[in-house]
Amino acid sequence: MTLHEDLEAIYQDVIRRNPGEAEFHQAVKEVLGSLGPVVAKFPEFASERIIERICEPERQIIFRVPWQDDRGNVQINRGFRVEFNSALGPYKGGLRFHPSVYLGIIKFLGFEQIFKNSLTGMPIGGGKGGSDFDPKGRSDGEIMRFCQSFMTELYRHLGEYTDVPAGDIGVGGREIGYMFGQYKRITNRYEAGVLTGKALIIGGSKVRTEATGYGCTFFVNEMLRTREQSFEGKRVLVSGSGNVAIYTLEKVRQLGGKVVAMSDSGGVIYDANGIDLDLIKEIKEVERKRISVYAERCSSSKYLAHGNIWDIPCDVAMPSATQNEITGRDAETLVRNGCIAVGEGANMPTTPEGVEVFLQAGILYGPGKAANAGGVATSALEMQQNAQRDAWKFEETERRLQEIMRGIHETCVHAAEEFGTPGNLVNGANIAGFMKVAQAMLAQGLI
Ligand code: NDP
Repeated sequence: MTLHEDLEAIYQDVIRRNPGEAEFHQAVKEVLGSLGPVVAKFPEFASERIIERICEPERQIIFRVPWQDDRGNVQINRGFRVEFNSALGPYKGGLRFHPSVYLGIIKFLGFEQIFKNSLTGMPIGGGKGGSDFDPKGRSDGEIMRFCQSFMTELYRHLGEYTDVPAGDIGVGGREIGYMFGQYKRITNRYEAGVLTGKALIIGGSKVRTEATGYGCTFFVNEMLRTREQSFEGKRVLVSGSGNVAIYTLEKVRQLGGKVVAMSDSGGVIYDANGIDLDLIKEIKEVERKRISVYAERCSSSKYLAHGNIWDIPCDVAMPSATQNEITGRDAETLVRNGCIAVGEGANMPTTPEGVEVFLQAGILYGPGKAANAGGVATSALEMQQNAQRDAWKFEETERRLQEIMRGIHETCVHAAEEFGTPGNLVNGANIAGFMKVAQAMLAQGLI
């Protein structure tokens, strides 16, 4: 991808200032790649150095997380919170617990989050955090002690008007609950709006658990509607088998589609009859086991150890595991096999080469910062309910989520058209997300 000359200079500076952070560089380049026509139209963004400012986090926090495992051994992990941009509201974005976490991952996620949150139309800034802690195989007690230690440092940076984390890979309702408990204990404040993704009993919102997967499915449905298509009868691949993947499966089924394969980092399950939702929930949410167990219990399915899910023919692909999981070659395979739509539940799951393949092929392609924004949007709804000390019904919350996803899709379509690349939702999402943040920054003076 060739960048506009001024943007290339900014990008080179980002690389120089943030050495070794490949994922962050990738995320910045992807956004800058869409902004050429924007800087041409709005010279004030250049003179006020808005883009350079957006690429520099407002605050980066790195801290030690010491904790004791079940055998009494002391363990040490590293915690991160990158408070990237608060032009539109308090920093908002999830926490990721995964051994691959380092500053570059948190910065890529935080950077994406700025534009995603802007697209939702809600008053939330962008941030992200996490740790290189690996929750796999850890007991409940170990998870709790880790979360408590993590929050013992992080709490001083949070607040319902300051910074409001949520979940991401390795962080679900259980972990949020432990962190909320520790925050309350340290601050002596029942500040429900300080974390989202809470269990219902402690102020969580209905539909938050389902929100990212449901939202992504609604987004793909909107894309399909532009070509007079629907999920009815479509074969769908959903990578991953965590929170986003499971609720993508649930909504795709409700809309008449059939998810024929899912995965985890160990392999792929394939079931031509469609994956059994109840069984997958039992294995992943209740027993917290690996996806290979599915094949042991379901005779119509096959387990492909170390298989590549994108080799399986499908109509719709919904990557919902992790970054860069669809390579250029995978994208070519998907297009060759007849895939007509891709909706990204995960953040930046497609490499730049893969994105290029989808755009060139002219298939429907919903980039993560638009397609998976339903999670954070529902987190913002959770904050609203917490502020009002209210709890909305499931149907009402889902209706709002669906409306928000429809709105995001429309916003992206319009921005893509207005700036000369109709149908290109990558440009649409980047431009529409950027414009609001840039204008809010200008309105607040030199910040
Ligand atoms: P979970 O921890 O619930 O599930 C993650 C799933 O992805 C697991 O099946 C995991 O397999 C798989 N996975 C993770 N890392 C890798 C890897 N390196 N290689 C292969 N598989 C991997 O996380 P979520 O479902 O919450 O998140 C999934 C994606 O969605 C992430 O990209 C996240 O940033 C994004 N997202 C999540 C939101 C949310 O609300 N939760 C909101 C918006 C985006 P295994 O167990 O083997 O590691």
